[in-house]
Amino acid sequence: MHKTLVPLLTLALGVLGGCQATKPPPQTAVPPSVRPEPVIFVSDMASEMGFHYTEDPRGFLELRLGPDAVVLTPGSRRAMVNGHKFYMVHPCLKMGDNFALRTGDARMLRQHVRGEQGRPGHLARPAAPVQPQVAPLPARWAPRVVARHWRHIVIHHTVTSRGSVGFLDQIHRARGFDSLGYHFVIGNGTGAGDGEVQVGSRWAAQQVGAHTRVDPSDDNYWNRNSIGIVLVGDFTQTRPSRRQMDSLVLLVRTLENRFQIAPEGVIPHRAVKDTLCPGPRFPWAELQQRLR
Ligand SMILES: [Zn+2]
Repeated sequence: MHKTLVPLLTLALGVLGGCQATKPPPQTAVPPSVRPEPVIFVSDMASEMGFHYTEDPRGFLELRLGPDAVVLTPGSRRAMVNGHKFYMVHPCLKMGDNFALRTGDARMLRQHVRGEQGRPGHLARPAAPVQPQVAPLPARWAPRVVARHWRHIVIHHTVTSRGSVGFLDQIHRARGFDSLGYHFVIGNGTGAGDGEVQVGSRWAAQQVGAHTRVDPSDDNYWNRNSIGIVLVGDFTQTRPSRRQMDSLVLLVRTLENRFQIAPEGVIPHRAVKDTLCPGPRFPWAELQQRLR
């Protein structure tokens, strides 16, 4: 009896624990192989945007143009964009007498400012209407309804050795979710084919994800704006299969192109939450290189 119960219990605990089961010691949160992105000074970013830059005596940094304002706090990932909270991937850095952001954060922040607007004639520099050639999604990955405007892609592992859309959907429902929290599942040959991309019901219906809640009190920014992709496997123990990586690269490239997501917008779960997900053995540097 024990022989069958123990693996089942281990599996259930792994799934129930989800990404939380892999809380890291802080020093291993980011693998050393990931090269830090370059930075841009906040004052330079303001002048590029045509915004006025001021340093508040209380320590806040403000970029303002007319009614639009971005407020940053040195040392914090939190930004306020026109009164709405926004979480950057990295904190605002103090560098000597200056303050700086990682370029990926700066880009996302600027996109967010534009996204908050939508009123014509709003920016000092009129935003050139960008209508890039966007390839439609292949039918097997196309949603059933009009697509949302997705800004990021967050990569996860299941922390289980096996899985599929149906298997994980049941687990998430048992945890009280309305359905599977991820949008896409990439199988490993157990339940779903090795490298098989399965589409979750949330993606079909273009529902907000339930995979990257940073803090119950926040505005759920990451779930509202991120496509959640999970690879079946526990990458604290093993690596994804070659076919899983090939499928991931193809899926991410396709989604990046369709939704005009910048490379910096593709992030591991651990970039925004205190977790090891998608696991220290997930080849993040290889993924970045293949996505270039
Ligand atoms: Zn995760």
